[in-house]
Amino acid sequence: MRKNIVAGNWKMNLTLPEAKDLVEGIKNQLSNNTDGGTEVILIPPFPFLTEIKNQVVDSAISVGAQNCSMYKSGAYTGEVAANMLASVNTDYALVGHSERREYFNEINQVLAEKVNRLLENNIKVIYCCGESLEERKEDKHFNVVETQVELGLFHLSADEVKNVVVAYEPVWAIGTGETASPEQAQEMHAHIRRVLAAYYGDDVAEEISILYGGSVKPANAQELFQQTDIDGGLIGGASLKAEDFVSIINAF
Ligand code: PEP
Repeated sequence: MRKNIVAGNWKMNLTLPEAKDLVEGIKNQLSNNTDGGTEVILIPPFPFLTEIKNQVVDSAISVGAQNCSMYKSGAYTGEVAANMLASVNTDYALVGHSERREYFNEINQVLAEKVNRLLENNIKVIYCCGESLEERKEDKHFNVVETQVELGLFHLSADEVKNVVVAYEPVWAIGTGETASPEQAQEMHAHIRRVLAAYYGDDVAEEISILYGGSVKPANAQELFQQTDIDGGLIGGASLKAEDFVSIINAF
């Protein structure tokens, strides 16, 4: 059966000492509370990956990158290749976060290449999708998300797509304090699972974890996670405080 997952996307926040303190806090509080049934993923900025991986090596916590290059190697100054991430034992990488789509013009076709580079290097993918407020108001949200999933993922075989986690993050709910209601989120998650099932079959779709992201907090996590098709969360702001992050993990 599919896994419950809580992933913390730190974005461009924290210095290394602050990051290490945060991880220490998460590890301490997790060892007191959790039953270990939920996979926890920390997603720090690139320069901290090795250090954070070493810090969690004695725990069940996984580590992810926030991005990777669509290119394999070569003269691409400032880019980070998937094989570099693999060489520092990165478990996961985000692809297509709405901030990358919006500020760095990452289109679905580029994201499909990034997915390929990661899977070639045995790094699992957290593929982000989600509609803008305008698209929701125009009632285009189901189509927009469906297209993002199709163009980013449907070139993969059924075996390959099992290494992908989907994160539904409505753009209007990210960092805004505005959360999709549990019903709105469930409706979209069920739609994504139907789209996956129509292409890959029910068995594969049932195995793929679909996370919700967008202003998840200790106060709303439980209601969201109780929904049938919500298998966890991709957490931004609240992942920067150990207490809040652990309380979200324990909301299952
Ligand atoms: C995110 O960046 O993936 C996110 C969901 O951010 P926040 O939780 O701050 O809305």
